[in-house]
Amino acid sequence: MIVILQPHVTRHTPEFQSILHVIAQLHNIEAKVHEVVGAQQTLTEIYLVGDTASVDSEILRNTPGVERVVRISREYRILGRHHDDLRAGGFDYNGIRFGQDNLNVFAGLCAVNTRDDVELMMRACRDHHLQCTRMGAYKPRTNPYSFQGHGADCLPYVFELAGKYGIRVIAMEVTHEKHVDEINQALATAGEPTGIMLQIGTRNTQNFELLKAVGRQNKFPVLLKRGFGITLEESLNAAEYLASEGNSRVVFGLRGMKTNMGDPHRNFVDFAHIPVLKRLTRMPVCIDPSHSVGSRESAPDGIMDAIHVTAQGVIAGANMILVDFHPHPECALVDGPQALQLAELPYFLEDVAISRKAYEQRVALAASYACTPP
Ligand code: PEP
Ligand code: MN
Repeated sequence: MIVILQPHVTRHTPEFQSILHVIAQLHNIEAKVHEVVGAQQTLTEIYLVGDTASVDSEILRNTPGVERVVRISREYRILGRHHDDLRAGGFDYNGIRFGQDNLNVFAGLCAVNTRDDVELMMRACRDHHLQCTRMGAYKPRTNPYSFQGHGADCLPYVFELAGKYGIRVIAMEVTHEKHVDEINQALATAGEPTGIMLQIGTRNTQNFELLKAVGRQNKFPVLLKRGFGITLEESLNAAEYLASEGNSRVVFGLRGMKTNMGDPHRNFVDFAHIPVLKRLTRMPVCIDPSHSVGSRESAPDGIMDAIHVTAQGVIAGANMILVDFHPHPECALVDGPQALQLAELPYFLEDVAISRKAYEQRVALAASYACTPP
């Protein structure tokens, strides 16, 4: 059960103590205070843990300072969307809104190779009004002899260039908690010119110790990729690990499932789960067409499969696109064959805009029919 407090009530206001007092009278109930930090204000919620079935929610609802009481119906206590739960969810980070109602494009390098390529990529983002990018420094590779990423060595120039080109958020995968410290340190040395969204890749979706460590820090939001060979429910529980440790600024990423049934795509594209995720949780939903499709193959209509699936995701309401671009895909050290070229960026963005507009029209259409009695 979640007791949502009125916006002006915080740990420091008198109503808060009275509400805690009411909760203390309940049998076998423990209270956990959770603060949702937004750009304008911090909202306070109190999670009741224990024998909540016997709690009369009316008592709490009538306590001064309480906005609403939500009975939790699912396992994902913090990130889940519960019965009658219309809370918006999402978060603001470094001036960018991440929610279930908007869309951000993260076009960038799967793996950082050279300073020049980082600069070309970021300049292209700036020229096309993108304030977000992806930059892989720590790469989890199947083969131990493959390039493992430049790691901490590339962070100084990546962050400096991000500042130069107005990049506000970089999605960057971490595979070990020490990477978070390295990123934090390098950002501080560079003077905090940009923000980072820590990415937990599909190979680490159930690395519970990494989830706990990343969940314990509150500086950076997290993009959690769905595990490629586990159920949706298992991946959602992984996301809840982050929130249960204190970090509920989580974006959930779809990147395809590993099965030969998806051949010839690299993974079986799972973007049909976008509405399901929005129904079950309050997390913004990201799609990764590059790792889903894994190639630059096109249909006879002249549109690449990766761009077709991007459109399918956006028209179904995706909130973030993580997509591989590269100034010279033939020289990319990781995943060159699936990278789009910089010259294709304006075309890609125009195609995304068409699908986004269609999605907005579909939402308006659904609303207009909902108002019309059958
Ligand atoms: C990536 O985005 O670079 C990546 C490795 O993705 P995934 O974890 O989905 O394979
Ligand atoms: Mn990759």
